[in-house]
Amino acid sequence: MTTQQTLSIIKPDATRRNLTGKINALIEQSGLRIIAQKRIHLTRAQAEKFYGVHAERSFFSDLCNSMTAGPVVVQVLEGDNAVQKYRDVMGATNPANAAEGTIRKEFAENIEANSVHGSDSTDNAAIEIAFFFSQIEIVG
Ligand code: ADP
Ligand code: MG
Repeated sequence: MTTQQTLSIIKPDATRRNLTGKINALIEQSGLRIIAQKRIHLTRAQAEKFYGVHAERSFFSDLCNSMTAGPVVVQVLEGDNAVQKYRDVMGATNPANAAEGTIRKEFAENIEANSVHGSDSTDNAAIEIAFFFSQIEIVG
């Protein structure tokens, strides 16, 4: 057992369609615990900084547009192997390739508006959690 934390974002395409509760239900059904959560509206500068690793990708500008199109819900999830477990619960980046029962299979609109973000490594999880939360906001 390796208890980890990971950073989740419920993206604007999902908050617009009132899916926060349905996505949280899939998270909780997987055994992950939501130990911090807040609803915010990202500024352009925040979105560009958060997704800085993708700055050279062709879709970077569209991605930043979609991430600032409405509110997001940022969350810290905790559980056994939380980083990989949440990637499994999310499903593939392109919902066309996502497995049955995953968040993206159930809810994503397309490869860009794919409803959720999840950290891809424990190192990035620590960086991404610190981007949005202070320690006193994380209650395990
Ligand atoms: P993931 O979110 O599965 O970790 P990436 O880190 O590769 O995927 O990409 C970050 C986000 O950028 C994706 O969730 C998606 O919103 C968007 N994205 C990725 N690839 C594409 C693409 N080919 N076209 C448009 N948007 C994309
Ligand atoms: Mg990623």
